[in-house]
Amino acid sequence: MIDLRSDTVTRPTDAMRAAMAAAEVGDDVYGEDPTVRALEERVAGLFGHEAALFTPTGSLANVLAVAAVVAPGQEVLCEARAHVARAELGAHGAVSGLTMRTWSHPRGQVDLAAVGELFAPDLGPYFVQTAALSVENTHNFAGGAVLPIADLHDVRDFADDHGIKVHLDGARIWNAHVATGVPLADYGAVADVMAVCLSKGLGAPAGSLLLGAQAVVEEARVRRKRLGAGMRQVGILAAAGLHALDHHVERLADDHTHARLLAEAVGTDPAGVDTNIVAFDVADAPGFVARAREAGVLVGAVGARTIRLVTHLDVGRADAEQAAQVLAGLA
Ligand SMILES: *Cc1c(COP(=O)(O)O)cnc(C)c1O
Repeated sequence: MIDLRSDTVTRPTDAMRAAMAAAEVGDDVYGEDPTVRALEERVAGLFGHEAALFTPTGSLANVLAVAAVVAPGQEVLCEARAHVARAELGAHGAVSGLTMRTWSHPRGQVDLAAVGELFAPDLGPYFVQTAALSVENTHNFAGGAVLPIADLHDVRDFADDHGIKVHLDGARIWNAHVATGVPLADYGAVADVMAVCLSKGLGAPAGSLLLGAQAVVEEARVRRKRLGAGMRQVGILAAAGLHALDHHVERLADDHTHARLLAEAVGTDPAGVDTNIVAFDVADAPGFVARAREAGVLVGAVGARTIRLVTHLDVGRADAEQAAQVLAGLA
């Protein structure tokens, strides 16, 4: 089976498993896991942030990051199909007691005019106060779309002008970096708090990080434990992340090439494929999924008529070509 449902389906490589087996570990709740500390320092440094916190999932990194800049009863503004709004099971409301309002853009982009209309200053005892803007790069449900760095600079300026914070959901920021050549630190510079994932394109079995100022990260460390996510000898997972940073970032360019190849095969304009996700419409998505499965290719339906393909570490060139041939015959 060639699995194009998600870039989360990757299995650790032999070299990654070897790095995990060799990892030096300690009790991370005591702050004594050297491999976790090395990973936190390294990733914070890559994005120019003061500190980082390792979390089991990207969802938790997002929940802790947004809660660091939005108090209970305040709101965060984001795009309507943002992962924080659609795919975290309402955690930001259920756990953090904050609310969200959204703008809509077909490619998940920032619409500052809409943001300007949504923005609500603190007007006293009537209106929910906007505390932060959240942006997602790349944008998952908008087909892996990259947010241009110029737009992110505008977001930073808007936030500064209005006295609010910026949260960046950078689950796939690595893909944006490789696709555009924009340095990771430039992305880091637009955000007060951000989340990055090791378990998507980078191919680690688990792990994400929240990045921010030292005080924000220390507070998030307390909240992480309160939510039951303090982990112990988790350096074995951090080692997978360090290995992925050494070996699996630049190769994301291959995933992007494979995604364009698949887009062409299913009759979608490859110019609209920024990174490793291809979304396209068919008459009957569940039917398409079933026929692709029979032909040896797993794909995802993300709507009654929309199919999503995601390329990743476990899909090599030959697999991509094989899948392209199969899907071209079905599309
Ligand atoms: C996958 C993803 C996350 C985090 O997901 P987890 O499964 O909780 O690790 C966050 N944001 C985006 C955009 C994602 O695609």
